[in-house]
Amino acid sequence: MAHLVDIFEVARRGTRVEGTLKPAELPELSKLLANEEGRLSYAAEGEGDRRGHPAARLSIEGEVFLTCTHCGKPVAVRLESEAVFLLARSEEEANAMPIEEDAEDEDVVVGSKRFNLAEWAEEEAILTLPSAARHDACDEAEWAQTPDDEPEAPKRPNPFAALAALKTKK
Ligand SMILES: [Zn+2]
Repeated sequence: MAHLVDIFEVARRGTRVEGTLKPAELPELSKLLANEEGRLSYAAEGEGDRRGHPAARLSIEGEVFLTCTHCGKPVAVRLESEAVFLLARSEEEANAMPIEEDAEDEDVVVGSKRFNLAEWAEEEAILTLPSAARHDACDEAEWAQTPDDEPEAPKRPNPFAALAALKTKK
């Protein structure tokens, strides 16, 4: 998926460009996900000049699904990040642009007149994505679905419930 803009022009004019993509349109992100549900919204906003370089703010926001490390079912994960990027004209220039130690929300990216916003948003989403996720109340989610999967299960004592009861007595 390509969403091409002249990012230098966006920076200079202070314009805002946005879009929304589905995981299926983001192949690199998609590889890390449990399914292709959810979405990723992004917005690039021109920030004029920062420390002598054209700058743009990238915000991403969305929801995708990772595989729960506990039950193996999809679990929703919120994506949200915002950072200001100084735009370099080449790799060489980017490498020569030191990031200020105290500027935690500031980064450097090599800009272009045909800059792919979708790919940029995807990279940010991958960086923001947690390495692992599980449901807040995973046991409940799992047992709520059990009667459909295994009709006999509810009649038997649940060994995990017994274990949980022991743990709460501590
Ligand atoms: Zn789970």
